[in-house]
Amino acid sequence: MKKTLAWSVTTVAALALSVGTALPSQASPGPSSPSAKYLNAKSNVSAKDQATIDRIMKRLPANWETRRDNVLKKHNIEASPVQDVLKAKVANVINPGDYECGPTKLDAYVDSILKDVDPGNLFLLSILGALDFPTYDSLIYGTSKGADYQLPAAYKAPLTTTFGYAQRFWDVRLNDVQLMAMHGSMITDPVRVARMVTLFYGLEGQDAIDMANDIISVVKGDAGLQNGENPIFTLNAFAFSAVGETDPVFKNLKDKMIFGDGILAALKGIGLNQVGPKAVLGHEMSHHVQYEDNLFDSDLTGPEATRRTELMADAFGTYFVTHKKGLGLGPNQVLQAQQSFYDVGDCQFDSSGHHGTPNQRRAASAWGAAVVAASNNPNKVLPSMSLDKKFEKVLPQLVAPDAPTSVKAYMSVAK
Ligand SMILES: [Zn+2]
Repeated sequence: MKKTLAWSVTTVAALALSVGTALPSQASPGPSSPSAKYLNAKSNVSAKDQATIDRIMKRLPANWETRRDNVLKKHNIEASPVQDVLKAKVANVINPGDYECGPTKLDAYVDSILKDVDPGNLFLLSILGALDFPTYDSLIYGTSKGADYQLPAAYKAPLTTTFGYAQRFWDVRLNDVQLMAMHGSMITDPVRVARMVTLFYGLEGQDAIDMANDIISVVKGDAGLQNGENPIFTLNAFAFSAVGETDPVFKNLKDKMIFGDGILAALKGIGLNQVGPKAVLGHEMSHHVQYEDNLFDSDLTGPEATRRTELMADAFGTYFVTHKKGLGLGPNQVLQAQQSFYDVGDCQFDSSGHHGTPNQRRAASAWGAAVVAASNNPNKVLPSMSLDKKFEKVLPQLVAPDAPTSVKAYMSVAK
């Protein structure tokens, strides 16, 4: 799990207040502001929408950026690789030339979903944290039975079945984890958006509703955003546990695993519909194993600590999906799918330090598959703590420069 999350880019925050003025007036921020330059050149926001954006900026409390960052940074919600690409693209709206991505399948996919979205609107929604509103809505208000949080029909049976397998596979208590979805359509519901405005900015009552209606009008006014159905609103899947939470809004929440429509669409969009969602579920359930086994604690700190738990989730997840008692999928098929998904190209300005580089992630998965392949009893599932012991031993090899990424290369150390 990672501590840093989308939209906490400092440059974005620093330039944020100029948006209200940057859009209505070509002259005001001056050519030295890259965001103004970009927005003036590329944004086609109408005068009416500019007035709405001005109103939104005026309603924000003085410390709105700090408030937003507090919500986004504190709760260990990890960003998916596809969100990392999106984040790089948004940063590029502010400083063209920064964080150029790709070319990878993920890069092309993110370009395709942004193609019809006005950059001015994208910028505004990202600095407001609104691209993460569905995430926090589902985290706080979602339940596995709630009508607004049901998995899409095409995924309900396969994901629910896989989830059940994962719950029974591991030797820790996972039957209290709730599986649910998040849908971008919440971004057009005034009551639900107002709840997020309250969470992020402390606005209450009519102020929150007014702000919500303005945000909704921006979304509805941009055909590219498809009334919230554009995948950019729900590009992640994540595990949540309230362990260690002290914030009253979060500390009593149940254990959850949440899949966004957007990440499912992204996996499908890059050709990973068969294996992708199951592999992601395997990774996320491994985080719940870590919560139950207290495996988040180690001597490491900062990005190295997060990298360890992320690579462990990759390894454990692959152990589960390739194990006969798990999903029993072929390791080559799994590793290929993971490779496409982890391959964020050159724009991994955030994920490389935290999730591990694409090569390290491939190495961790290959090792997980090798532990399955090297076992002399295919029906035996290792206790999670024993698997961890092996993992801690091999970790230095997985993060070494040019670590091998084939199952074969890890057969001897996986014994
Ligand atoms: Zn993770």
